[in-house]
Amino acid sequence: MIERLDQFMARANAAYYASRDPFQDFTTSPEIAQAFGEVLGAWAAVVWESMGCPAPVVLAELGPGRGTLMADALRAVAKAAPRFRGALQVHLVEASPRLRAEQARRVPDAQWHGGIETLPPGPLILLANEFLDALPIRQLVRRAGGWVERFVEDGRFVERPVSHDGGDVPEGAVVELGEAARDLVAALAARLAREGGAALFLDYGPERSAPGESLQAIRAGRYADALAAPGEADLTAHVDFAALAVAARDARARAWGPVPQGPFLARLGLFQRTDRLARSQPPARAAALIEAARRLAEPDRMGRLFNALCIAHPALPAPPGFEAAC
Ligand code: SAH
Repeated sequence: MIERLDQFMARANAAYYASRDPFQDFTTSPEIAQAFGEVLGAWAAVVWESMGCPAPVVLAELGPGRGTLMADALRAVAKAAPRFRGALQVHLVEASPRLRAEQARRVPDAQWHGGIETLPPGPLILLANEFLDALPIRQLVRRAGGWVERFVEDGRFVERPVSHDGGDVPEGAVVELGEAARDLVAALAARLAREGGAALFLDYGPERSAPGESLQAIRAGRYADALAAPGEADLTAHVDFAALAVAARDARARAWGPVPQGPFLARLGLFQRTDRLARSQPPARAAALIEAARRLAEPDRMGRLFNALCIAHPALPAPPGFEAAC
């Protein structure tokens, strides 16, 4: 069988998420610190107020994993913004039946969807952490005779000629095309521009578009060959935030950021929230909470490799964390 890389990646990841507990292989921000989901819940409440407090409002999440982020967000909202809690309906977009069951344990009152197309119409607030990086990408390589595209056959790349307007790049250069992420963001942006709301994406990828290959595989907690065992490794690629911002603006939404995760979470009050949680804990647990928050925000850890991008209805004011961005 021969498949284009994006087809291979889509099939491999669908099999991976359907059959395994991905959190044995890697961890994510909501699994590291409960304050992450809590400050994102507060973010959603502030955005809801800036929308004029619509009721009902859809609170959606893409790729909710274990459901931890949404559970933490809802708990924080119930305490700090009970009117928002009363107005919102939780909708989760998740492909894996196994992860849906896991999410239902933590967020029992949710409704599930296979894609964003079936989310109910109307005002929407959407969260997505480490979702876009799992979507399939294409890879093109500049060869002496022109551009070729990577296909996968028997666990290795084969190249086929392709027409591509890639400008003047050195021979051997690899270009990644995240069409699935771009199409999803464009569709969401068109909906937000039409019906109101905002979507927040936090993901792995540089602030500015960078050439080069970023496809990686994690298998049993270690870097692995991305092509060797489809379905047994988590395949991800860097998110091209700049390209997504362009796609959102082309669809008449406003794009805010990207802003590196560290300053973004600091502006949302991650450390104040963590200090409050730590105060009621014994010293070892308090130190662990503070260490977890630092892991998410420090620049040489997750604070700079991860970025936050918001796409929103053009009339909304700067969402929390993006006040200094444009
Ligand atoms: N947001 C979670 C999980 C990240 S892992 C966290 O931060 O912990 C990626 C998640 O996206 C998983 O829940 C996976 O099943 C889901 N996913 C990946 N590709 C998908 C697709 N094409 N459609 C729907 N869900 C998808």
